[in-house]
Amino acid sequence: MSKIDAAQKKRDRDGQRTVCAACGHPATAVDQLLVADGFRIHRSHTTDPRSGYYRGKR
Ligand SMILES: [Zn+2]
Repeated sequence: MSKIDAAQKKRDRDGQRTVCAACGHPATAVDQLLVADGFRIHRSHTTDPRSGYYRGKR
């Protein structure tokens, strides 16, 4: 399990637990949030090679 960043913890307290920290849009049924580098972001960001959150091979 990934560690939650302090800034993300503040976002959680501010009611943004279901809001993506990368693009600012809420989570959806087809694109849910996961924790990457301590922040909650859409899963799709980690599968997009153009995204700074990409987790696959470059
Ligand atoms: Zn997003």
